[in-house]
Amino acid sequence: MGGDLVRVPGLVNAHTHAAMTLFRGYADDLPLMEWLEAHIWPAERRLQPEDVYWGTRLACVEMIRTGTIRFWDMYWHPGATARAVKDAGLRAVVGRVLMDEGDPAKSEELRSVALESLDEAAAEGGDAVQPVLSPHAIYTVSSRSLEWIAETSAERQLPVQIHLSETQEEVQGCLEAHGVRPAEYLDRVGLLGPRTILAHCVWLDGAELELIAERGATIAANPVANLKLAVGGVLPYLRARELGIPVGLGTDGAGSNNSLDLLADSKFFALLQKNAAGDAAAVTAEEAFEIATGQRSELLTGWPGEDSYVLVRGDAPELSLGDLEAGLVYAASGSVVDSTVVDGRELMRGGAVEDADEVVAKARERAQLLGLT
Ligand SMILES: [Zn+2]
Repeated sequence: MGGDLVRVPGLVNAHTHAAMTLFRGYADDLPLMEWLEAHIWPAERRLQPEDVYWGTRLACVEMIRTGTIRFWDMYWHPGATARAVKDAGLRAVVGRVLMDEGDPAKSEELRSVALESLDEAAAEGGDAVQPVLSPHAIYTVSSRSLEWIAETSAERQLPVQIHLSETQEEVQGCLEAHGVRPAEYLDRVGLLGPRTILAHCVWLDGAELELIAERGATIAANPVANLKLAVGGVLPYLRARELGIPVGLGTDGAGSNNSLDLLADSKFFALLQKNAAGDAAAVTAEEAFEIATGQRSELLTGWPGEDSYVLVRGDAPELSLGDLEAGLVYAASGSVVDSTVVDGRELMRGGAVEDADEVVAKARERAQLLGLT
């Protein structure tokens, strides 16, 4: 190790859709539903496994460059995602988006797709990948399917990831359809437990937070995606912390962020919470860094015995003076990362990732074929 290289824990992206790098800079600056319905969903219907593979490889290059060692992914063609993770040398928890449009008649189909996707992710990813059940959200999956997912998760001890309480519309819709708020509904179908990661959680009320704390689920905060899509609220993190709820940090997909630089997002997380609380002491840099490195949730800690870490350039102008964590969270971005090591394997040294040029060329080719550029 060079004299100015400082070893720090690697970052853990608790919620993303890696292959959405293909959609970066495509149809930006639109309201959420118009963006999804008129642009993203029609393009996603054309996605082939090779698209997802190269989109994920591009995401992996960015994550390696910015010090991320592991991520939780929810997307289509999980076999292609898993293969990309393995080839890139990273680690990931990979799941296929599960949806039945809220129609219980389509639950059988969802079940076979889900079981197949678990096998596919395990087979393609080997030791680099852990399969996860990934119901999209409570408004796109029927309660029949959600109950089945809860049973399957319990039987196989599989983790679960789901978007929860991202918008006020979701809360309103849940109250109208089920008479309870989103976290209460998720508990009713058996999905609120210590193996579950809840992405967003912007509009939770006090009773929901208490329920989540009691059940031991982890919250993945996504401050930049929330700001960009203008959801209008902020994760009630201070109350969540008070209740001891495990919390991690996610970028969400590159279509709605547009960056995968988790270090940059740790600053957004801290500043947003400080501002919402009207208290500059509400969240410290040390705490934001712990959250971004997965140290505040057992679910986000690594594979047993894994030797993964990051070396940052202590002589980078942003880090050359003052407290290290304050420098990392408030002054630096992922560009201060010199080396990223995952399970003893150096994926980047001196800021250069092997195969990066080929990955960029291939991802461009796939985006062009999809008509995105
Ligand atoms: Zn998401």
